Amino acid sequence: MQQTSLTPTICTTTETPGHILIIDDDPEIQSALRDLLLTENSNYNITLANNATQAYTILKIQAPDIVLIDIKLGSDNGLDLLNHIKQSLPECACIMMTAHRDTQYTISAIRFGADDYLHKPINGTRLIATVNRSLEKIQLIKNKNESDLRFTTIFEQTFQHIFILDTDGIIIETNAAALSFLGSSKNSFTPGHVLDLPYWSSKPNTRTIVDSFLGTQTSETLHFDIETSYNNALVNFNATLKYITTSKSQKSLILLELTDITSQKQAENQIRKYNNELEKMVKERTLELEQSVILLENENKIRKQAEHNMRVAKELAEGANMAKSEFLSRMSHELRTPMNAILGFSQLLAMRQGSDLTESQYENVNEIMNAGNQLLQLINEVLTLSKIESGESTTVFESVDLYTLLSQCLSLTAPALEANQLTTINQLDENSALFVRADFNHLKQVILNLLSNAIKYNTTNGTITLYTETLSSSRLRLYIEDTGIGIKDEYFHRLFEPFDRLDNEFTSTGTGIGLTITKRLLKLMHGEIGFSSSPSTGSTFWIDLDSVQS
Ligand code: ADP
Repeated sequence: MQQTSLTPTICTTTETPGHILIIDDDPEIQSALRDLLLTENSNYNITLANNATQAYTILKIQAPDIVLIDIKLGSDNGLDLLNHIKQSLPECACIMMTAHRDTQYTISAIRFGADDYLHKPINGTRLIATVNRSLEKIQLIKNKNESDLRFTTIFEQTFQHIFILDTDGIIIETNAAALSFLGSSKNSFTPGHVLDLPYWSSKPNTRTIVDSFLGTQTSETLHFDIETSYNNALVNFNATLKYITTSKSQKSLILLELTDITSQKQAENQIRKYNNELEKMVKERTLELEQSVILLENENKIRKQAEHNMRVAKELAEGANMAKSEFLSRMSHELRTPMNAILGFSQLLAMRQGSDLTESQYENVNEIMNAGNQLLQLINEVLTLSKIESGESTTVFESVDLYTLLSQCLSLTAPALEANQLTTINQLDENSALFVRADFNHLKQVILNLLSNAIKYNTTNGTITLYTETLSSSRLRLYIEDTGIGIKDEYFHRLFEPFDRLDNEFTSTGTGIGLTITKRLLKLMHGEIGFSSSPSTGSTFWIDLDSVQS
């Protein structure tokens, strides 16, 4: 008996089916059939079985695509075998072989599930045609099964909730995702009406939307969003409804697909919330900014108004000052002429001392001369100050030899120095060669003012010391130091105020504008004035001016 190996060959879906089992108790027929088949296709994998027992053993380890079964297998019935194969291998094609031309056999075989039959003696051409037809049929079944499997896998594994409904809305089929959401399973799920599903929201009323769709038979796909509460949680779905037609029955069904977009919606809501907060913050900041701008604008307006007021006040003050200076200047001029006349005639009168004038008359004339001189000094100083203030005073810069100028000033004040028994220490000498850039007359007046103060406010037998200090290569300082009455701290800020004589009003003669003039003159010469003073040791005044290299 010729027999191929019993090693099972299992057809995979990618392979073309070609595993054939021939079960016949006649070895000659077996060989003949095998040869015929191999002649047709040498790739066929053919296994032979002599009887039912052998066939059962082979079928335990192999799954042939086609089985050729002799109906009469000695004592065994081929129909039993057919029945067994159809039960255990539904995809396997069974071709029954019979010597009987009895239609009854054929009908029984078909009833038992035979796919085809061949009458013995078997014609080669028929055998090949029958086997090929069966193989094609198997291939088609396999393809369909595979496609069904693919569809079922997708249907069951997709995350979308799918319901297949009839046109009245009765649920026919549902997938695993939907069942899991509904807390059900294939076995426990009782299909009901689509409107009874727990998906539907009230706003918008999606139950009404679905209800209106039923029975429309529209070709359009309906899309809508759902937001509803399920198991105390807010859930969002995107739903589509469409009519589908199965190719077989041409029967209309409805496909309802629901995509859970809860997390997407939550993310969107979160983003919207952030955006709103951001927008709110931007609005708040913008408002703050606008308010700041308004405040700034107001402040600006106020500042501008204040500046304007100040400018007006300054202009008014300057105008008033000019008017005052002009008035003082004119008045001083007008006063000077009669005052000179008074002084002149007083001097003439005084010259008559001892002849026409009695001693007391002479003393009276002297009083007139002293008062007149004081008045003339006041007039002159007021005139100088008003000239400086009105800008009438001209400044002519030149290189001034400090030693020469100081010598002149000391000569001019010598009588007063002597009268007050003061000692002068001039630390400058002829060879000092100290030059400053100044207006000679202005500087002379400055030094005379400071010297006369150092004399006036000194003590009997006091000292006046003059010395210099080089501040830098271009700046020189001149000190005029006295050992006089000094100035109290609390008066320091009033020192350069015009007509302020501190507390010397009644102890010495003066106008109270000498230091004011001194400061203004120094300013005209780009100079500065400073002082230090103490009632116990006296005062030191200094002036700074640009030095000129000799
Ligand atoms: P006057 O000397 O005519 O009063 P000044 O303007 O020169 O005016 O001085 C203002 C005031 O400063 C003086 O009245 C005096 O009280 C005080 N003063 C100025 N120089 C000295 C000084 N060297 N020592 C003490 N007091 C002084």
